[in-house]
Amino acid sequence: MKNITKEPIKVWEDVYQIGGAGISSFDDCSIYLVNAEPELVLIDSGTGESFDKLVENIRGLGLEPEKLSMIIVTHAHIDHIGSLAKLKEKFNSKILAHQLDVEKIESGEKVGAELYGVIYEPCQVDIKLSKDEESLQIGKYEFKLLHIPGHTPGSIACYLDISGKRVLFGQDVHGPYNLPGADPEKAKTSLQKLIDLHSDILCEGHYSIYQPKERVEEYILSYLREL
Ligand SMILES: [Zn+2]
Ligand SMILES: [Zn+2]
Repeated sequence: MKNITKEPIKVWEDVYQIGGAGISSFDDCSIYLVNAEPELVLIDSGTGESFDKLVENIRGLGLEPEKLSMIIVTHAHIDHIGSLAKLKEKFNSKILAHQLDVEKIESGEKVGAELYGVIYEPCQVDIKLSKDEESLQIGKYEFKLLHIPGHTPGSIACYLDISGKRVLFGQDVHGPYNLPGADPEKAKTSLQKLIDLHSDILCEGHYSIYQPKERVEEYILSYLREL
């Protein structure tokens, strides 16, 4: 596979980046894995082209992709949802998303597949969030899920506390907030919500992993100021 230059990254205890530019495919969002023993949880899934590489990367960490019980979908853009159908088919994983983005995931309309030159296989969502904040026990961790509309109407962030550090999967914190369906006013409130979590580590949707706390705040604030 071309442009694969990096190995998966260990972010923190039980948290890995297994996909993204350089790791799985240039077009993929950053894809994170949580080992919530005995289950595995994936945050987002890439464009779909890199499915085999994602599976290989999970095995390379000594983990079993068959244990992927849940895929948390941060929003309905193709670079985040492309492998959902395959993950569900192969590993019987449940798909979780906010209800305001469910229609796109299930229909495949306006997810941006044509922009990436891929064919999106629509996928049924099993768990549809509707509240501002919900929590879900998966394996040994409590996953907190926050509705953060702005980049898309049904964007969500996820965070969990592991061994004294708060790890935030903020995903597309950088936006853009000027696409069809985006709402910069709502994004202001959402980014402030993310700042108020005082996370120690931010796993961003494309750019990087930010830490410590001060850098996380500075990063999110830099996008809030632009709105
Ligand atoms: Zn993205
Ligand atoms: Zn996006």
